[in-house]
Order: sequence, then C-alpha cells, then structure tokens
Amino acid sequence: MADDGTSSGACRKRGLARALASGVLVAAMPLCAAQSVCHGTPADGRLEAGVRLPLRGDNFVPYSELGVRLGRTHVHDRVARAVTAAYAALAASRPDTVYVYGETGFAQGGRFEPHRTHRNGLSVDFMVPVADARGRSVPLPASADNRFGYDIEFDDEARAGELRIDFDAVAAHLLALHAAAEGEGIRIGRVIFEPAYLPRLFAAEQGALVRRRIAFMQRPAWVRHDEHYHVDFELPCRPLRD
Ligand SMILES: [Zn+2]
Repeated sequence: MADDGTSSGACRKRGLARALASGVLVAAMPLCAAQSVCHGTPADGRLEAGVRLPLRGDNFVPYSELGVRLGRTHVHDRVARAVTAAYAALAASRPDTVYVYGETGFAQGGRFEPHRTHRNGLSVDFMVPVADARGRSVPLPASADNRFGYDIEFDDEARAGELRIDFDAVAAHLLALHAAAEGEGIRIGRVIFEPAYLPRLFAAEQGALVRRRIAFMQRPAWVRHDEHYHVDFELPCRPLRD
C-alpha cells in the first residue's frame, strides 16, 4: 500500500490511463510502479525506492550528466511525477523556455554533501532559467569548472556575464509545480531563493500569484541561492527509524 492508500495495481492502472492520455507510456509506467517511501525530514531522513528524474524532456535537461550517473537525481516517485507534470505543462504554455533541474538526492536518501537537506527524496534544486544577450532562453552553462552551475554568481541585477535570470520563467515554473503537486496530492513546503531577488520575482508576469501561493524562506540561507531555487515538497513520511 502507498501512503495515500492506493494499491500498486490501482497505481498501475491509473498510471496507464494517464500515460495513454498524455502519450508518454514509457516514462510514466516505471515511475508509478516504484512506490517510494520517505522517512524523517529533508534534514534528517532517508528514502526507500527513490526514482531518478527523467533524463530529459522537450523543455528540460539535468544540470550534469555526471551527476545523473552518480545517482544524484533521485526523488520520491510522487515528487518525480509532480516535477515531470510541471515541465509538461510548461512545454505547452512556454514552449521556448528551457529548464534545468539540479541536484535532488540519492535513491536511498541519507547524507548528501554538500547539501544540508535533500535526505528523504522531497528536495529538488532547480537551476535558474536564463536568457542570453539576444533574449533567447538557454540552459545555465554547466561544467566541472563552475561546479555544474552552482558556482555561477549572479549580481544585484540578476545578471552573470551576458546571462540574466528570466523571472517570468521562474514564476511560471513555481506555479506549474504548485499545480502539479496538488494534482499529485502533495504540496510545496518551503522554497529557498535569494531574498534580494524576491521583489523581482513578485514583479514578474504572474508574480503576484506566486507571492500568494508559495512560501519563501525570508532569511538568507547558509549558501546564497542565486543560481538555483530549492524546493521542499511535503507529503506524509514515516519516522526515521521505522
Ligand atoms: Zn537544495
């Protein structure tokens, strides 16, 4: 039984119906069959049967092929479905925007250096969507030299070289995640994003809605979250030692 009371059979049937409707049979089936179980909290937890986020889609890529190979992009299966559904919605509403997801956690959760959380399959880092000098959406450039994007520093104007953060795209993504989480029966708990950028985000297209629906950590985090925003999803987890 999953924690929402569905049997794996029902899950498979529901997943199949959803897959047939959306035309992504291959992607949806294994996600549904996984039945992840989270324990504890993002700061002190573990995960059973974590699933890897999809390797790529029409409008998204991972931050690093190496990170994927090292098993650093696993989440609870319900989080994976919410993240994937949000990208699918954005592919329809903003087809020209490229999104990049960052680190999430290991299949079995637990310590995940250098992050302080990301331990029970509910935390996801999303690299900021950026536009280049010509205004085109491009993936945040990632290599070993810039710690796969995490070392890129954006200034007070939210610029790094010729790149600028696309706050309209951030707002659309957060709202899509909020809706997709609701559709999956889970919710977005806390979001961490550079506090100095919040006024820009709230002034973006759909920013007022973001302000109403999403709870941001107001104090500065232990590391600056300028090149990515961190999302903790919430769903009932078992005790850590269970
Ligand atoms: Zn994080």
